[in-house]
Amino acid sequence: MPTDSCNNLPIRSAQVITGRFAPSPSGPLHAGSALAAIGSYLSAKTQGGRWLLRIDDIDGARCRPEAPEQILRQLDSLGLAWDGPIRYQSQHLEQYAAALRHLQEQELAYPCDCTRQSLVQRSCTCRGRPPRRPRAWRLDLRGLPHTTWYDRYLGRQEPSFPKHPPVLLRADGPFAYLLCCVVDDAEQGITEIIRGADLAAITPLQQYLQRQLGLPSAQYGHLPLVYDQNGKKLSKSDGAAAFDARIIWEQSLQAMGWDTPAELRGASPEEWRDWSLAEGVRQWNLEK
Ligand code: GLU
Repeated sequence: MPTDSCNNLPIRSAQVITGRFAPSPSGPLHAGSALAAIGSYLSAKTQGGRWLLRIDDIDGARCRPEAPEQILRQLDSLGLAWDGPIRYQSQHLEQYAAALRHLQEQELAYPCDCTRQSLVQRSCTCRGRPPRRPRAWRLDLRGLPHTTWYDRYLGRQEPSFPKHPPVLLRADGPFAYLLCCVVDDAEQGITEIIRGADLAAITPLQQYLQRQLGLPSAQYGHLPLVYDQNGKKLSKSDGAAAFDARIIWEQSLQAMGWDTPAELRGASPEEWRDWSLAEGVRQWNLEK
């Protein structure tokens, strides 16, 4: 039976509130990823905290060389200034390797030689048997607790289990985002992770990894997704061309359920930002 854990993981509460935005540079920001930038920025800043930037460029094949610069320019056009140096995942491979080694030593990671095709027909059966030709390393989920967890915006969440144990190191080389993200968040001292709701389902897996790696956890909050006119989640191709920072601000605040004053329509990104910073505590019920 699930029990209520309410995020009962050690959180770095003594530290200054530290949020982050962690885009993957597979293209420019679109209205959905910009909402995650705005939401995470406002949350950290309205609490007097720091807001860090990380570029999730671990998967070279999916990265576009021009995207990091494009993203930085877009953040600038939104009036969002990050604190401290930018962290690039591609520069921290040895830290991910050490984390994987720890999991391997604890027998929490196992080699797998399933192909994508074989996984369509059956689940992975590699755990506990010597692999013929290891293709990837997966996380052993047998210890994953059946506990609910608490999301700042979505409230109490039931645990969800992936169909297959998630990959930690892929057959074609890169470490998986799941593992890198947990290492990075701990390294950067992140105390709150505010991101799009499409990542809510992997949160219990990341909390599980934090426990197994002895890393502190964070508060999680997942923001609404932005859809196109056909009800489809936005993709990178919906990015740069349609990126109007003033509209993005208004759309994002409304998507987060804020009451935006009609007088602000057409205001500059900096005016939206300053109004939001002054309003954030009230709109988000953060005063406690
Ligand atoms: N890099 C991930 C993405 O762009 C987000 C990572 C996160 O916020 O945890 O989808």
